[in-house]
Amino acid sequence: MERVYQFAAGPAVMPEQALRRAAEEMLNWRGSGLSVMEMSHRSSAYQEIFDHTVSLLRELMDIPEEYEVLLLQGGATGQFSAVPLNLLQTSADYVDSGHFAHTAMKEAQKYGAVRCVASSREENYCRVPAVNADALDPQADYLYVTTNNTIYGTRLPALPQCGNVPIVADMSSNILSEPCDVRRYGVIFAGAQKNIGPAGLTVVIVRRDLLGRAAAKTPAVLNWTVMAEKGSMLNTPPTYAIYMAGLCLEWLRGEGGVKAIYERNLRKAKLLYDYLDESRLFKPVAEKFSRSIMNVTFRTGDEALDAAFVKEAADAGLLSLKGHRQAGGMRASIYNAMPEEGVRKLVDFMHKFEKNR
Ligand SMILES: *Cc1c(COP(=O)(O)O)cnc(C)c1O
Repeated sequence: MERVYQFAAGPAVMPEQALRRAAEEMLNWRGSGLSVMEMSHRSSAYQEIFDHTVSLLRELMDIPEEYEVLLLQGGATGQFSAVPLNLLQTSADYVDSGHFAHTAMKEAQKYGAVRCVASSREENYCRVPAVNADALDPQADYLYVTTNNTIYGTRLPALPQCGNVPIVADMSSNILSEPCDVRRYGVIFAGAQKNIGPAGLTVVIVRRDLLGRAAAKTPAVLNWTVMAEKGSMLNTPPTYAIYMAGLCLEWLRGEGGVKAIYERNLRKAKLLYDYLDESRLFKPVAEKFSRSIMNVTFRTGDEALDAAFVKEAADAGLLSLKGHRQAGGMRASIYNAMPEEGVRKLVDFMHKFEKNR
């Protein structure tokens, strides 16, 4: 079978250049005589790989010196626990904008006082809820947001105004897809398997003045302060995933970095949304002002027809278009590594499908 276009939400499409490079280097990384998978994480060769990935991330996101970059395990879900364990002392505010935001909020409730300051749960998360500045606690330990809601295809249009309260952001599905001023955040975290690299790696970017606040009971592997002191190597880091992420970030730099990929991402999303706005068969799900440029959700309104579409698309080499079971319908995840050609093929296919019905 030829390579197909993969629209899965994560693990997701990866840049072909990175996969080829990994294949070339699989048995013998740059004359070391070893596969990266076989290297000790304490070796100087591996430290070079690790440092390279961190420095590419710093460069591409323009991460200021006063932020620590941690490369961890446990997924974004691990950070749902790590966030309150590291920061929650009195009370924290949460924006409930989707399934993952809700899960994070529930998890934080195990550890302390949590307030839900806005929610679109009643509307099945078809939009990002407006956050009323008056609803925010100016003394909160942090304000928690999810910048892109992967399942529902919505994107936070603007950060709430919250004074000096540090913003903690789950950026799992839109990190590196658009320019982001890191200085506006206290903490940014992301599971790598959407827009950074393969699964198994979790990136945490934390402002240094927020370290040192962890609850005494915090498991060491979730403790940002401990991990920062140990250079993310309290224990074995996800060595191969970190290497692969480095290859993906090199690709991104070669494409012109975040600004250039953002412009391409806007073009890709526009192709799909323009078509959806015109189509008489397919309807976009997310409300217009909340639309994600990474995950595009749509449906026909007829479940059998949705299923037929997903199957026929897969037969045509357009994979994994089925929506998340919580949202139904279809979802096209069009992360950085999805070429414009893939989106064009998808829109062509949708046209054809619509004409034949
Ligand atoms: C995928 C995703 C998660 C869950 O990530 P894991 O790495 O599987 O724990 C959390 N938040 C968002 C926004 C996601 O897209």
